[in-house]
Amino acid sequence: MWSLRTLNNTAGPTLRAFYASISDHPDMLTRTATLQPAFDFLAYLNKYTDTDLFTVPLKCVKSAIKVAMFNELTIFWRNCSECSCLHAIYDDWQPRKLASNIFSRVTTSCYHDFACGHSKLRARHHIFGIAKSPLCRHGCNAAETTEHVLLHCPFFNKERLLISTKCLSLSLDISVRTFLTNNQIHTVVERLLSLFLQHHKTHQSVFLPLFGLYTPNLLGYYISTPVQGDMKEKKKIIIIFNSIMRMEREKI
Ligand SMILES: [Zn+2]
Repeated sequence: MWSLRTLNNTAGPTLRAFYASISDHPDMLTRTATLQPAFDFLAYLNKYTDTDLFTVPLKCVKSAIKVAMFNELTIFWRNCSECSCLHAIYDDWQPRKLASNIFSRVTTSCYHDFACGHSKLRARHHIFGIAKSPLCRHGCNAAETTEHVLLHCPFFNKERLLISTKCLSLSLDISVRTFLTNNQIHTVVERLLSLFLQHHKTHQSVFLPLFGLYTPNLLGYYISTPVQGDMKEKKKIIIIFNSIMRMEREKI
């Protein structure tokens, strides 16, 4: 903002005098920590927006810079082969407006995990050797994927009917993308995910993944347990922690 103020002649007297003293000396401008880097940054971002960031009114410049930065991210993201899960859900990389009503914090987290491809689904966990089988835990003989849980698994029929009814009333498509992006049906989708989480069992092989997943929780619980609290609880945690460490050593 200071840099733009100097260009627009709205900076304070000291900054104005400073800029006037070096504005005709490119070598000195280049050495400044704020002015020239800021000009270069705006010149670079101008490629990603229709708004000229050098002439936009100062009160609008922050949001204009934000738009340009997200446009730059979107171009990179669209060409990134590692984001295939998200490509199926979103068209662009933009700030997301969170739903005002949520079912619970855990289910909201699960909702965004599903959208980002970081869910606790067996098909995904199987790839990492965490789950024994990629198939649906409800005996469907189909891979437990986002699409299967949200659209096809009969175990969630009751919850899915609520979502479908709401989609029809709002003239929305029945699709994974709609389920994971539309804030008007956010709560009922979370309701389905709540049931999914109730029946979630990790089925991990008790080695590195388990170690990685559980030790921070155990340590966190250990630390948060009051010193004057139940020492039996702390001893139990130490025993579990040690047993995980022992399994790790045996594996190595
Ligand atoms: Zn199923």
